[in-house]
Amino acid sequence: MPIRVRFAPSPTGFLTLGGARTALFNWLFARNAGGGFLLRIEDTDAERSREEYERDIREMLEWLGLTPDEEPVRQTERLDLYEQALKRLLDEHKAYWCFCSEEELEAAYQAQLAQGFSPKYSGKCRALPEEEVAERRKHGESAVIRFKVPEKVYSFTDLVRGRVEFNAGLIGDIVIAKGLREPLYNLAVVIDDADMKISHVVRGEEHISNTPKQLALYEALGLERPQFAHLPLILGPDRKKLSKRYLANALKDYRRDGYLPDALINFMVLLGWHPAVDREVISREDMVKEFTMKRVQKAGAIFNPEKLDWLNATYLKQLSLEQLVARLKDYLPPQLFSDDTSLLKVTALVRDRMKKLADFQKLAAFLFELPEYPPSLLNWKQNQPTVTRENLNVALTIVTECTAEPFTGRAVEGPIMALAAARGRGDVLWPLRVALSGQDASPGPIELIDTIGKEESARRIRVALAKLG
Ligand code: GLU
Repeated sequence: MPIRVRFAPSPTGFLTLGGARTALFNWLFARNAGGGFLLRIEDTDAERSREEYERDIREMLEWLGLTPDEEPVRQTERLDLYEQALKRLLDEHKAYWCFCSEEELEAAYQAQLAQGFSPKYSGKCRALPEEEVAERRKHGESAVIRFKVPEKVYSFTDLVRGRVEFNAGLIGDIVIAKGLREPLYNLAVVIDDADMKISHVVRGEEHISNTPKQLALYEALGLERPQFAHLPLILGPDRKKLSKRYLANALKDYRRDGYLPDALINFMVLLGWHPAVDREVISREDMVKEFTMKRVQKAGAIFNPEKLDWLNATYLKQLSLEQLVARLKDYLPPQLFSDDTSLLKVTALVRDRMKKLADFQKLAAFLFELPEYPPSLLNWKQNQPTVTRENLNVALTIVTECTAEPFTGRAVEGPIMALAAARGRGDVLWPLRVALSGQDASPGPIELIDTIGKEESARRIRVALAKLG
């Protein structure tokens, strides 16, 4: 059987990092085996499904480079298929209409709990006479379709967890549809996986308790079951179930903050998988080559936000200055005064401190807009403003009278350093640096002049002189 896997999100929210991890493991498994990677939109929950979310899921997969090999399948377009299966199960008495009300079910469950049983459906509607069912349905009484879950043990060999057994006798008859054209997850997923010829179901561990129900449905419908691989849960740094804070963060938010797709892919692959030759930074090519379910762990995978930042910084450092600048286009402050050359300079000045693209604004803001600062900051140690003013005036003249074309920091470095040697390093370089940066800590004045250019440097020194009165 050819290898075919699917990512099957419900479009009830933006794609999360947890969802993307499932997509990635499916994609890697398929690429490694030369098989197919498919996308199925599980949109049968009409109330919670939204087109906006579906669009987001598809866009994010594209952005990550996890593009499906075939047109996505949408469950709401396949209602005929589910209806056929439901009719068959009803005809063959493997499923039945159930008229029990929510209140009735709730009361029965509470009673069972009170007696210390784990609750399951009593089977009350299992054996209603056909005429009665027809009559009640004709009168529009609300009803759901229940599947008679056989009371037996189901087992399967999970590619991650090994042999798994479930006593389906504990499950009770499950609701598989709210009507002939309103299938629920467990039914639809089985019909679709069989119809789409899915060879391996790779999904999160939270679905493992659904697997016996689905195995029972494969059996009842006479369909061949796929193989299963359940991926470990993702745990927070405290080893507790991952809090909303990290997992529920939409992938689009990571993109907005300037995490690179390659860094996220690298981070996600380590959430449950490790290469045989231990290392943290792994190329996509190597992942594809080396990926195997044998190396997927059973234990929960710890989400470490510092590691994500570290990986992202690592991938940012691998970019050339030009590549980095190209990616910064969406992160530039609107008051950007510079042309492309000075943007290159600004980026060179701050790139080492960037963990994500969005850091650029914060780190570079003072280069684009002079921050407010108190005049006293301009004075070196106990210097009087008059001394500071004199030194800044000479520096201003050096800058404005420089005729070098193009203007660079190098061109004024000689005279400014000579001035500093004559009048004292701190006395000259400190006020100049503060004037240019508006901050008490920053790169040196020559680098600053080089980055913001002649006009802006002169303007900033004049601002400082005005502050000194
Ligand atoms: N729609 C399910 C989900 O979003 C998919 C479960 C599965 O892969 O079988 O969790």
